Amino acid sequence: MNSQPIKSAPSWLDGRNLLNNKWIDRFLRSHWYPGIIQWPTLIVFVVIIYQLLLGPSTAHDNLGTALTWVLWWPIIPIIFLFLGRFWCAICPFATINDFVQNFVGNNRPVPHFLKKYGVWIIDASFIFITWSDHVWGVVGSPVGSGVLLLMLTTAVVASGAFFERRTFCRHLCFLGGLAGNYAQAGMLSLHGTPDICAKCTTASCYKGTEKAPGCPIFEFPKTMSSSANCVLCGDCIKNCPNGSIQLTLRPPTKELWFVHKPRVEAAFLAAVIMGIVFVQNVTMLEVWTSILSWLESITGTSSYYVNFSITFLFAITLPVTLLGWASFVATKSNNASFVDNFTRFGYAIIALDLAAHIAHNLFHMLAEGKSIIYTGMAIFGVDSIGASAALVSTTTIQVMQFGLIGLGFLGSLYIVYRVAQSNHQGDVILATFKPYAILMAGLAILNLVLFTLPMAMRM
Ligand code: SF4
Ligand code: SF4
Repeated sequence: MNSQPIKSAPSWLDGRNLLNNKWIDRFLRSHWYPGIIQWPTLIVFVVIIYQLLLGPSTAHDNLGTALTWVLWWPIIPIIFLFLGRFWCAICPFATINDFVQNFVGNNRPVPHFLKKYGVWIIDASFIFITWSDHVWGVVGSPVGSGVLLLMLTTAVVASGAFFERRTFCRHLCFLGGLAGNYAQAGMLSLHGTPDICAKCTTASCYKGTEKAPGCPIFEFPKTMSSSANCVLCGDCIKNCPNGSIQLTLRPPTKELWFVHKPRVEAAFLAAVIMGIVFVQNVTMLEVWTSILSWLESITGTSSYYVNFSITFLFAITLPVTLLGWASFVATKSNNASFVDNFTRFGYAIIALDLAAHIAHNLFHMLAEGKSIIYTGMAIFGVDSIGASAALVSTTTIQVMQFGLIGLGFLGSLYIVYRVAQSNHQGDVILATFKPYAILMAGLAILNLVLFTLPMAMRM
């Protein structure tokens, strides 16, 4: 795979080191960071778990459901876009992992199979969790959501007790896998200064010092070429004796123009996420009931497991197959193998993924946003029966959704162009570009069609 340095004119959005600002620098170097945000987040997490398991049994009335699925889940992709994997630095699971590790940690090395196949495990668990949400109604059931969070907590505790650093966050967390993909389209990048790191022999950023532990996600800023696994915890900023770390702004998607070590499992996940957004949209549409009836007549069974699973399989297979088709067509005009094309250009779907994901969740956040206030007031006995939960009109939400899909499409198209340009020359650039441009247009149109149809509420 080719890798080239990124060349572009510096601007206010490109290459500005935020650590040159003394307030940001002081905050990230402070012993208070990230704990000052981590611990309140953990308290909110405990309140959510309590509400989900012991609060009102219907999602409509449950504050835990509203905070998790109407506030947190819609905001999370927006955080990834603007702040990379910052959420992972303050995530309650990371805090619990560190807490358990401090007391009973065995600090065993990460098993080889996790290093090698961890991303595939993440891909599989992401698919499984989405599938189980639909067939067992996890999001729609407060207890179901609570049990899911408890199961994840158990896995985190086990990982923290046995393995070193944040093995769960790096190799097992499905949200971490999603975050890793989206952070590459994000606007923040943390990295060492090459000239300074080249002369450094301490590797304090990786090993840790008395000021802070070594990188919890097993990254080495000296060689780190991607934001996929940096959670912006600030430990390396505190540890580096040479002031090498930079925290820079960059235009969205820039990292995806030149992925240094593309991995087929990340490209696969990018295509699968698009399918998952499709399935999330389709099952919320008013026409979903008609689609189910049609499927029942074809399969001869009214089993939701069977009919939903067929829809789900079709939805996640569709973008993977279309990416495969575009990659196959591209092999006819460039000298790259099918797998190389699939891997390199699969990353281009991430921009559209992120846009579609935000656009889908925008509906929950803006059409159901007031439910957070209503369910919170209900705890204190204030009734809001019959009040609309919408923050803005459906038309406004649709306009925003169309705008986001347009931006995502342009982002994906530009990534395809840059990747084609960096790997090929002359007429081959355009010949390689065309099938992927058709792919991105097809995916964008499908999203637009789904967003024109009326959707059902979650709360
Ligand atoms: S970031 Fe700092 S500690 Fe790490 S390799 Fe570079 S100079 Fe050394
Ligand atoms: S590279 Fe630095 S900021 Fe990023 S996760 Fe590792 S220690 Fe934290």
